[in-house]
Amino acid sequence: MSVLVFADQHEGKIKKAALEAVQYGASVAKQLGTAVNAIVVGEVSNDELASLGNYGAAKVLHVADARLNDIEPGVVTKVVAAAAEKEGADVIIFAHNFSGKAIAPRLSARLKAGLVAGAIELPDTSNGFVVKKNVFSGKAFAKVSISSAKKIVSVLPNTFSLAPVGGTAAVEAFSPAINDADFKVKVVKVETVSGEVPLTEAEIIVSGGRGLKGPENWGLVEDLAHVLGAATAASRPVSDSGWRPHHEHVGQTGLTVRPNLYIAIGISGAIQHLAGVNGSKVIVVINKDPEAPFFKAADYGIVGDAFEVVPKLTEALKKYKA
Ligand code: FAD
Repeated sequence: MSVLVFADQHEGKIKKAALEAVQYGASVAKQLGTAVNAIVVGEVSNDELASLGNYGAAKVLHVADARLNDIEPGVVTKVVAAAAEKEGADVIIFAHNFSGKAIAPRLSARLKAGLVAGAIELPDTSNGFVVKKNVFSGKAFAKVSISSAKKIVSVLPNTFSLAPVGGTAAVEAFSPAINDADFKVKVVKVETVSGEVPLTEAEIIVSGGRGLKGPENWGLVEDLAHVLGAATAASRPVSDSGWRPHHEHVGQTGLTVRPNLYIAIGISGAIQHLAGVNGSKVIVVINKDPEAPFFKAADYGIVGDAFEVVPKLTEALKKYKA
């Protein structure tokens, strides 16, 4: 018995959510007294693959097939199933991101394995295998017991902070049989929709709320984000009103983020917003109301009008960087 983690990559770099999944897999393996191995598909350097040892992987199976640089869920399901069989893996872990959401259910059907999607805690293995997840848009938790012999868990991104352990993984080439006929869909074009940096992977996020009054004022947020090389985010009413796209919405019913720096502009700090951002290392709040609840969660607070404070901050940072 062993644990296998599917670690997805983009342009040769393992995604942060995948590193979290590997780390989660390592903890599960420790609980079960076994080892954790990873599988990576597509063209990735040996150093990048070996670096998964830093998050606990003992070995990385690498399918260095350029056709898999973009995920084709049907084919990758076949590949992961072959890797699980080769390694005798009974527990298979994914990140609960786009590829995990596409592959884990297919693999679950293929292997007749129970699946818990979006785990937020390590499984309780004291009596079976019980995994906690959010349900009803984060309004409640469910503890789900997987009783099948094979178990699949996908891990909610940005729920577990990364704690590198040092070490390198052994890299092993893996070549399961894949035919061109297996490829049923093909990615023809990838367009980045969330600005300069993907939100869930961002180290710095500048986020705006209803205090910005309207979409025409978003230049304020974007200019500051640009100077900092940050991603932009928004509170839910902002995306509900169509000021910003829904994929920028953070909070209980949106994305969970865990950047090093989260700058909140004109956001009150409702509990549902905080639920998605309070794992940030440093929170800076800019709000004209000194009683805004967000200040209680802030490391640094600026009480002031965003329309005065933010342009000055952006200019100061520009000068500092010049
Ligand atoms: P407001 O609460 O209107 O706050 C605007 C803030 O801007 C105020 O604090 C005000 O003082 C400040 N301000 C005004 N003018 C200026 C100015 N010129 N300069 C500086 N500051 C200014 N919300 C989320 O964000 N994410 C979620 O995932 C989410 N999920 C929810 C799920 C449920 C089931 C429910 C019931 C609600 C959810 N909400 C969520 C909504 C949440 O409760 C709040 O209503 C929302 O976060 C408020 O957004 P806001 O802070 O942008 O707006």
